Formats: sequence, C-alpha cells, structure tokens
Amino acid sequence: MKLSHSQRPFRPIAAAMLSAMLVIAGCAGNNNGNAAANNTAGNQPASAAPEVQKLSVVTSFYPLYYLTSEIGGEHVEVTNLISSGVEPHDWTPKSQDLNKASKAELFLYHGAGLETWVEDFTKGLSGDSAVMVKAMSEGIDLIEGEEDEDEDSHDHSHEDEHHHAIDPHTWVSPKSVLVLAQNVKNSLIAADADNAAVYEQNYTALHGKLTTLDKDYAEKLGAVKQKNIVVSHEAFGYLARDYGLNQVSIMGLNPDAEPRAQDILKIAKFVKENDVKYIFFEELVSDQLAVMLANEAKVETMVLNPLEGLTKEQEKAGITYLNLMQSNLQNLVQALQ
Ligand code: ZN
Repeated sequence: MKLSHSQRPFRPIAAAMLSAMLVIAGCAGNNNGNAAANNTAGNQPASAAPEVQKLSVVTSFYPLYYLTSEIGGEHVEVTNLISSGVEPHDWTPKSQDLNKASKAELFLYHGAGLETWVEDFTKGLSGDSAVMVKAMSEGIDLIEGEEDEDEDSHDHSHEDEHHHAIDPHTWVSPKSVLVLAQNVKNSLIAADADNAAVYEQNYTALHGKLTTLDKDYAEKLGAVKQKNIVVSHEAFGYLARDYGLNQVSIMGLNPDAEPRAQDILKIAKFVKENDVKYIFFEELVSDQLAVMLANEAKVETMVLNPLEGLTKEQEKAGITYLNLMQSNLQNLVQALQ
C-alpha cells in the first residue's frame, strides 16, 4: 500500500476549504460534481480519500494514457481521446474533443505522423485555453516509412490520403516506450512542478518495469531461430529494429490500405520459402487478410497486438499495456522458436 499525502486525513478546516475549491472547480467543468458533494457530506472514514485538485491531462491514444496514468498516479485526471475499440488510424476529433483539450492543463500526443489531425486540432483550441501541448515521440530515433516498391504501377490516390512519411509505431518497442515514458514524466513536471517528487518516484517504478520488459524482449527474441514476422499492418518496425527481427507486412503503415492479390501471393511464397509458421493478426482490425494468407500458405494465425488501443473487453478486464506487451512476447517466442 502506498500512502501519498492526498490520502492522509485532512483537518476539518482544510477539508472545508478544499470542498469550497472543488465546488468552484466543478463550475469550471474540470472536476466532477460528485467529488465536491461527497466531501461536503461530512466526516468521511479515513479510507475515503479526500479529493484534491488534480492536474487535468488529455492524451491522444492509449499508450500515452497508460504512461500518464502510471506516472501521474492520483495527482492527475487523465482523459483519453480515442476510446477503446477504435483503431487510431481511422479516428478524427470531434468538437467535444477540442473542448476537452481546451479545458485541460496538459495535452499529450504522440507525433511522428500518428495523429494526422493534430495540427488543425491545436489551432482549433479555444482562445482562452491555457493547455500546454507536447509531442511525446521527441528524442526517439524515428524510422522512415518504406515507399511502395512498385510506386508507379498502380493508383495511389487512396493511400496518399493517409500517407505516412515516417513510421509512427514507436510504442510497440520497449526501448522506445522508455523514451515516451521519460517525455511524459518531464511534461507532467513542467505542468505541475509542485508534485515533481511524486512523478519522479512513480516514473522510477515504471522505468523499472519497462527495463525488465526490454531485457526480456532482448534475451528471448535474441534466442529465437526464426527472425521473420509476417504481420497484417506494418506496426512492428520499431520492435523489429530494436530486437533483430524482420517485419513483412500484408498492408502498409496504415491498416486501411488494401493489398492486391499479387501481394498476398508474394507473401505466401515468402512464408513457404522461409519456413514461417504463423501469420500475425491484430484485434482492432479484421483478421480476414491474415486468415486468407494463412490458408494460402497452410500455416496458423496468432495475435500480435500493435497496442494502438484496448478492446472494450480488455479495458473492462483491467488489462494494461504491460500485460499486452508480455503476451506479445510470449506469442512471438512461440511462433518464432
Ligand atoms: Zn498503425
């Protein structure tokens, strides 16, 4: 059990002042009204933590939500824009999302081309918004997206809409996530220096877990015989680069792109020639192509999660980034041994 200062019993006078502050904050729309109502109800047992003014943070997608929740702990109120079950490549913000970000103190997005909407979004923030906006992928050695091999042989008008010059999928590699975590920590401290010590402490704990994950990945993937991973959408470039694997994707960087029959046949040939045993698919995108390819090549399919978001079921079950990264490693080891 950790006991932070917000869980210590408040003296009555402090609690009364706090309630008044919460009522004011509630009017500003930052806090939910129930917190204030609960606190004015009188002396709560010590187990009911009194609410304190939290740093309001809006994150663009799940991995940043996870890191912010872990590092911010009970000092932050985190809102994630892209809800569970939604594939982030398909998502665009609505006016309610702009409202949320305008009212927040900190808005964290990934950058590196993931949120194609972010430039217009930040321009659209309300004039009186004091939100601090930060890109979390800064400092990561980014991978240039691969151009299609036969660029001029077919019409690219569809892909061009979503064309990524840079591979945005940094968070699938523990090594890159260590950088994201550090950026999140620094941003929380920049927005709320009073709680710097707590953020540092939570960050150190998370850093330990992510470092263990990185070591597990390096050790176990270093030992597998098969180095080729055949995946549906090209989300594992950082994982492949950082742990010595070779990614072959059915679709491009964006899961909307539609592969041609000749591409499927080409990959099926690669699968047979290289003794690949499994085709990986992911939960937020249809497994149709992976199944088609697996049937064509007479191999099995298995989940490899690009961690772009949780499914509703995973969210309900309390599954986290860390759990999914561990499952990914297990599946990789099973498929590649
Ligand atoms: Zn993706």
